[in-house]
Amino acid sequence: MFQNPKHRIALISVDGDPAVEIGQEEAGGQNVYVRQVGYALAQQGWRVDMFARRSSPEQAGIVQHSSNCRTIRLKAGPAEFIGRDNLFDYLPEFVAEFQQFQQRQGYCYPLVHTNYWLSSWVGMELKKQQPLIQVHTYHSLGAVKYRTIGDVPVIATQRLAIEKACLETIDRVVATSPQEQKHMRMLVSRKGQIEMIPCGTDIDKFGGIQRAAARQHLGIAPDAKMVLYVGRFDRRKGIETLVRAVAKSSLRSKANLQLVIAGGSRPGQSDGIERDRIASIVSELGLQDCTIFPGRLDDTILPFYYAAADVCVVPSHYEPFGLVAIEAMASNTPVVASDVGGLQFTVVPEVTGLLAPPKDEVAFAAAIDRILTNPAWRDQLAEAGRQRVEIAFSWYSVASRLTQLYTHLLAQTTAKPHNQPQIAA
Ligand code: UDP
Repeated sequence: MFQNPKHRIALISVDGDPAVEIGQEEAGGQNVYVRQVGYALAQQGWRVDMFARRSSPEQAGIVQHSSNCRTIRLKAGPAEFIGRDNLFDYLPEFVAEFQQFQQRQGYCYPLVHTNYWLSSWVGMELKKQQPLIQVHTYHSLGAVKYRTIGDVPVIATQRLAIEKACLETIDRVVATSPQEQKHMRMLVSRKGQIEMIPCGTDIDKFGGIQRAAARQHLGIAPDAKMVLYVGRFDRRKGIETLVRAVAKSSLRSKANLQLVIAGGSRPGQSDGIERDRIASIVSELGLQDCTIFPGRLDDTILPFYYAAADVCVVPSHYEPFGLVAIEAMASNTPVVASDVGGLQFTVVPEVTGLLAPPKDEVAFAAAIDRILTNPAWRDQLAEAGRQRVEIAFSWYSVASRLTQLYTHLLAQTTAKPHNQPQIAA
């Protein structure tokens, strides 16, 4: 049994604030991961500070989530939304602010867990200036992402170099799926230490609601065939494939088909533009009467949508992990997902759902139809999905594995007395 360590640790996620609303542009799985890992680690005895950059003047500097867990917002550039590809130049300011924060508190964090490549740079800079253990989760690998997009941003060269340096030099990199681990080895570097610890989900929040009750709550007909998408509006999420697949579905002509496309968007911003593009494809294909866009779903309503659905579709072009798939499975809803990345790890084909080649609307249509036309099989897939999540993907089990890793790494440091963390000069 793990002994309460009472250590302070910092989770650094410059661009992925754990205390903001999730489900809009650039606020998705990474924010959820940091927040939920932070909460769960605090419950297991760590004193957890989660650091992000301040992105609006209205935001509180410190958000206290529980006695052991808080979000701390540091200055890194103007207090406004800045896209990830334009944040790098503000990182030295973030590092300086982090050090000043440590000075004011009178302690140094012996361990930081950084998230996404921007924060990996922050961790590596801090490591030059104070004894520190650095653990890192990439959330997305430039080497994989840049293979799937047409216009590679200017920052790409820097990102790829930093991701390589991170893997080769820091104490431990966490891969969230065997597929991500393989990509790191194939596309980033053969050097460096990787440990596979998956993402998790809240198995209490998702799973307690019956389909019929969820539908009544949402006003969805009991006999509707409901197909659900949850996530950000981003072209790489492949929502277009889903819409075209539904248009090809053999159930399309039936009056009770219901497509729900959930996620936040802001008019005129990139997610708003993608939402409008999807809405126009919906109209073009004559699906407007059976499609709803409920907008961003918050924590109180999201479990109802998952529970109400017959199938949840994750049509991403690529997904390093894909939290939505395990949230749906936790909610007793089978998943049809792209046969890529972490989705190949979470979704077991023919057991908890089905996989289809990305961008292949015909294959997605066939997979969705197979589940919608066989409710008994849908229920079997649902039950197996829930079991899989309970066994492999609870935040509690994720935090326990991170706890073991941190404890092991910290024990190595304390074995070397000259390496004891000091307050930064
Ligand atoms: N999400 C949400 N409300 C929405 C849309 C998405 O809370 O309206 C959450 C969703 O439940 C999941 C996260 O955003 O926890 C998306 O994570 P995922 O790993 O699937 O994709 P990412 O956004 O990281 O690409």
